[in-house]
Amino acid sequence: MSRSSIQVLAPDVISKIAAGEVIERPASVVKELVENSLDAGATQVSIEARGGGVGLIRVSDNGEGIPADQVELAFHRNATSKLASASDLETIASLGFRGEALPSIASVAEVEMFSLSAGETAGTLVTIREGRVVQRASRGRPQGTAVTVRNLFRAVPARLKFLKSSATENGHIANLVDQYALAHPEVRFLLYMEGRASLRSPGTGQPRDGVAAVYGIEVAQAMLELDNGDGEAPRPRITGLVAPPRLARASRGYLSFFVNGRWVQSRMMARAVEDAYHGLLMVGKHPVVVIHVSVPPQDVDVNIHPSKAEVKFRQDQAVFSALQREVRRVLVEETPVPHMEPSIPRLEPDPARTAPMMDLAPLFAASPSPGPAPQAAPELPVLRVLGQMASTYIIAEGPQGLYLVDQHAAHERILFERVVAQRESRQVDVQGLLEPLTIEVSPRQQESLQERGEDLSAFGFQIEPFGERTYLVRAVPALLAGQDLAQAVLEVVDTLGEGAESDWQERVAISLCCHGAVRAGQVLSPEEMRQLVRDLETTNMPRTCPHGRPTTVHFSAGQLEKEFGRH
Ligand code: ADP
Ligand code: MG
Repeated sequence: MSRSSIQVLAPDVISKIAAGEVIERPASVVKELVENSLDAGATQVSIEARGGGVGLIRVSDNGEGIPADQVELAFHRNATSKLASASDLETIASLGFRGEALPSIASVAEVEMFSLSAGETAGTLVTIREGRVVQRASRGRPQGTAVTVRNLFRAVPARLKFLKSSATENGHIANLVDQYALAHPEVRFLLYMEGRASLRSPGTGQPRDGVAAVYGIEVAQAMLELDNGDGEAPRPRITGLVAPPRLARASRGYLSFFVNGRWVQSRMMARAVEDAYHGLLMVGKHPVVVIHVSVPPQDVDVNIHPSKAEVKFRQDQAVFSALQREVRRVLVEETPVPHMEPSIPRLEPDPARTAPMMDLAPLFAASPSPGPAPQAAPELPVLRVLGQMASTYIIAEGPQGLYLVDQHAAHERILFERVVAQRESRQVDVQGLLEPLTIEVSPRQQESLQERGEDLSAFGFQIEPFGERTYLVRAVPALLAGQDLAQAVLEVVDTLGEGAESDWQERVAISLCCHGAVRAGQVLSPEEMRQLVRDLETTNMPRTCPHGRPTTVHFSAGQLEKEFGRH
């Protein structure tokens, strides 16, 4: 191919390239529009999405509005009312400041803006197609702004191709609105998905009411309050709500962080919180938290990410330790902390992990002891059960020495193969419930249920919609009998929304087995242990649980001889 000469790109090409950074998917449009409404001081924001947001997105607010002579200006690249000089960048208090959202959206969709500002008698309606104004009109409306976005990415087929199903895109939108409803309890949020009311936050200003709207009343009532701000105002200030460990979830999707009112993704903050919960949660469980970090605007750079989803603190470490300390304080005050002697010397603190550990409460040993590596041989010999240790491990003898069997992991393996086989042969053991169980779901869980709820019946679930964000569970897989059903069902629903679409069945099966399996700490009778070991021997992959952890640890006769100096 011959080399083309260098040319400056045409403005519409530049716009499309820039739009690609800011507008990744329909939820990005919702984010930009909702942020504009919040910047305009709205106390009510309603959001409507159709066709996964590709068909239509409409965000209406009762904010300050835009004067008639400035409505078109709002669509110019780098036109903003929020920033006057470069020095203002140091102290940004608004969510927007680059003046690129509206032009970006207008370059990849049809946009209609309808706004009225204080003192005006008629609102201004402007329609923009392919970046050009195609209609101007004057009509009555109350103060505020409504932006309607249609046919998103129609002119960018490459982008359209990468979008997921409508249900998945709706899930992203629902999650985004959830986050803003959590962050701004003083604003009434209304979300309509495909014509259905999906979220309604009351706008009372009480953070707990925001949580109730998003996660349900039970979680809201149980949340513990954070605030490190009494007395000497320390910086950074940490406020918000964290759920007690018993309400932990199976995914990290319930960690919400806001920096000066802006929703951000932050591994550093997630790690600080998980550190604070360390030793209080079962493996694979994650907390529900809604945390605000407030720092003076000059101590945080909000201009490091195209969609402003990440921020950079001037003092990362101070934020990490303030966060970890405050969350740990509240948890320790409210929760009995389990005491356990570490079985190995405490690990040296890892210098890469910035903050010092708090010495408020003893923590579990940070890693398992370096025991003998599980053997590679996939099969398990016939074992003779000798007893149980710590109500957690079955001690057994085999032809090649001593075996310790992790009862929970082993049972998970047995159940997993059973669930998979039953599903394939369509002979699932089902437990009907005499009284249906009512569960309350978040908008995101609702999207998952709408998409996959029927498929769950192949596993033995019978779940029916029952009013707004409420479902009736009429039957569950028999292996869940005797478990906390509401929690089990909600966790299965959570697993639907995570990870790749292709392996959701496997995730559901794993989640079921984890719930149905005997727990560590459960005393087993000799007969129960024998049965469990026999069942494990007959599985296809007896050496590992479905999560990939070993079910058995083997000490060979030779190893024992060596340990006892019998050579
Ligand atoms: P930015 O938010 O970075 O300023 P945008 O492209 O998102 O850039 O918006 C451009 C301008 O349009 C804003 O600075 C604001 O003055 C005006 N604007 C946009 N949406 C609204 C709204 N909902 N209410 C009032 N003004 C708005
Ligand atoms: Mg904006």
